[in-house]
Amino acid sequence: MPDFLTAADVETLPQAKAQAHPEMRCDVIVIGAGPTGLACAIEAQKHGLNVIVLDKGCLVNSLFHYPAGMIFFTTPELLEIGDIPFTTAQQKPTREEALEYYRKVTEHYRLDVRQYEWVKTVMGQDGNFSITATDRAGRPHDYRTRKVIVSTGYYDLANELCIPGEDLPKVSHYYGEPHPYFDCDVLVIGGKNSAAIASLDLWRHGARVVLVYRGSQIHHHVKYWIKPDLENRIKNGDIEAFFNSTVQEIGIDHVVVNTPRGPIRLKNDFVLALIGYHPDYDFLRSMGIELSEQQCRPVCDPVSLESNVPGIYVAGVIVAGSRTNEIFIENGRFHGKQIAEDLKHKLWPES
Ligand code: NAP
Repeated sequence: MPDFLTAADVETLPQAKAQAHPEMRCDVIVIGAGPTGLACAIEAQKHGLNVIVLDKGCLVNSLFHYPAGMIFFTTPELLEIGDIPFTTAQQKPTREEALEYYRKVTEHYRLDVRQYEWVKTVMGQDGNFSITATDRAGRPHDYRTRKVIVSTGYYDLANELCIPGEDLPKVSHYYGEPHPYFDCDVLVIGGKNSAAIASLDLWRHGARVVLVYRGSQIHHHVKYWIKPDLENRIKNGDIEAFFNSTVQEIGIDHVVVNTPRGPIRLKNDFVLALIGYHPDYDFLRSMGIELSEQQCRPVCDPVSLESNVPGIYVAGVIVAGSRTNEIFIENGRFHGKQIAEDLKHKLWPES
């Protein structure tokens, strides 16, 4: 046998295969490496707990998938976690600056973040949970932990239109950057911030934009520096807008829009359905977490954020269920301290 084995050799050795991924043990597993999950890990770690963070994507995966040139609505100090200052040259941080900030915070606290590990099952009970995740190659990784914090966010699951053609490759629920849409007919669906920003950005970079919104006017939640800009583009005829309207079907080269004056057929190359996102309710239920009937809010203690399943905590936007506009990084980042305080009392009762 040679002194060393290649990765391919290891895969073919049954005994090595069995030992390749021994079960990892820790005090707390955080599921989701977004700003809230990182804040939870930092606060738990500060109490001397051994923490592992698992994420099916990269670090702050949702932020990574935000539009390329995005500027946050908020000022940097409101995105801070772990008492690490976030300073930016301009008043509001960009996506790139936020990515850099969360990378640096992760390094600073030496957080044990396992990227690209997708948690598939959470079994067991308080004090002894077993978690199985799969990596990018589909290999299983087993963990055993005393407590679990779920901070899985909501940006992975887009709301659906449930209309014919929604699954065509030209349809996306995410806007990245304008270049691929140059000189194309692009239909944007939605009437809040994402739809407004994307419509303006697309138009400014040479796309022909049609906006379709079920409401009667651009929503008042659209930021005060964006709304008049969009309204003026619509008034000027630069962007065509259909209010009180819905998309009925999407075809390869066309869309059919139901307007107050009846259905119309429009030439179309791309559809951006920027109609919001929702938490993974099935995943929460799979752990035994109960959700409220109306808004799918996880049943949890409002102070400790421990769910109805003892030992499993919820953090970040998922706490608000379908009311995803109630919790942002700005307030979700404090969930870490709430949860860590409870963990401290339960795991170190003498302290
Ligand atoms: P959103 O606020 O949830 O808005 C979704 C829009 O889609 C609403 O106008 C909604 O209509 C419409 N809609 C929902 N379901 C629909 C359906 N089935 N058919 C047709 N229309 C439907 O989503 P978002 O604009 O993507 O914003 C998400 C979050 O990100 C918000 O908190 C927002 O403030 C934030 N954001 C931040 C930045 C930034 O920091 N730079 C940029 C963009 C967004 P109704 O209005 O009738 O409900």
